[in-house]
Amino acid sequence: PLVLGIETSCDETGVGVVRGHTLLADAIASSVDAHARFGGVVPEVASRAHLEAMVPTVERALKEAGVSARDLDGVAVTAGPGLAGALLVGVSAAKAYAYALGKPLYGVNHLASHICVDQLEHGALPEPTMALLVSGGHSSLLLAPDITSDVRPLGSTIDDAAGEAFDKVARILHLGFPGGPVIDRYAREGDPRAIAFPRGLTGPRDAPYDFSFSGLKTAVARWIEAKRNAGEDVPVADVAASFQEAVTDVLTRKAIRACKDEGVDHLMIGGGVAANTRLRAMAEERCADAGITLRVPRPKLCTDNGAMVAALGAEMVARNRAASDWDLPADSSLPVTEPHVPGRDGQEDG
Ligand code: ATP
Ligand code: MG
Ligand code: FE
Repeated sequence: PLVLGIETSCDETGVGVVRGHTLLADAIASSVDAHARFGGVVPEVASRAHLEAMVPTVERALKEAGVSARDLDGVAVTAGPGLAGALLVGVSAAKAYAYALGKPLYGVNHLASHICVDQLEHGALPEPTMALLVSGGHSSLLLAPDITSDVRPLGSTIDDAAGEAFDKVARILHLGFPGGPVIDRYAREGDPRAIAFPRGLTGPRDAPYDFSFSGLKTAVARWIEAKRNAGEDVPVADVAASFQEAVTDVLTRKAIRACKDEGVDHLMIGGGVAANTRLRAMAEERCADAGITLRVPRPKLCTDNGAMVAALGAEMVARNRAASDWDLPADSSLPVTEPHVPGRDGQEDG
């Protein structure tokens, strides 16, 4: 199926076009520069930027894909989770396009989209899919027997998300926003064994699939403060590398354990933090050692984009999932257990 996908849950206006598992276009307009001086995404600024970028980005995506909107089999949109006002811009635009074109509308889950996008990279997802979802707002281990209808959380963070930890540590180091890519860059010049930062929730009695990154963030802050108080220079690259090592160590260890416990022979990693070079390298090494096949999309498909929404929408069409109603709401806290928002009297075929 040929599907257009619209993503506006945070600060990227993403519009993608896919045909089944084939990526045809991935157009993005980001308002990240407008937020940088505030040190984080400002919701009102993001909503306004989506509004301005929407129509040109849809047109750019259709042109890039070389398809006519008349040939679409559906319009998919992120219904949640995310910033309420930002989501509303995407949902309203998707309704307008779908209604005007006479195409079905599919409100889909942003988190399930972060997983489903891998079909554009590595073909059909295995069933069940074991996924480590690591992004700005979420860090979870998910087992998905069917990405369109059945996603089960095995564990998740009890405090900060992995991406949030990257952003906060970058702020402590005065490296700007967003923190993930900068820390990734500094870490390449640093020694990951320089400082032994704590590995949260890795004790024998801790929940095996839950994560905690707030203690790590505090440990980094204390370590830096002690250096500054002693009048010593802060070795930014070593701090970045050691912090990043602590995060990726815990993420990969727990993910591989989940694969083994569940008897699953592959691991999918998705979400913005999956763009991290050290996480990708460590996961590759450890998965190879454990006989697990690793699936990570190219970095551009890990961070927020419209192609991931189109990918999940295409899967909804392929599996005859019920379309959404015209009064589809934006749901800022849509749970990961709801991959899409079917219409009230939609009949689903398994
Ligand atoms: P969510 O998907 O939970 O709603 P989000 O959509 O805001 O959150 P994503 O775009 O999926 O988040 O990911 C953004 C996060 O990924 C940010 O916290 C950012 O710092 C982090 N990130 C991006 N690139 C990298 C990288 N190379 N290394 C580490 N973290 C990264
Ligand atoms: Mg972003
Ligand atoms: Fe995201």
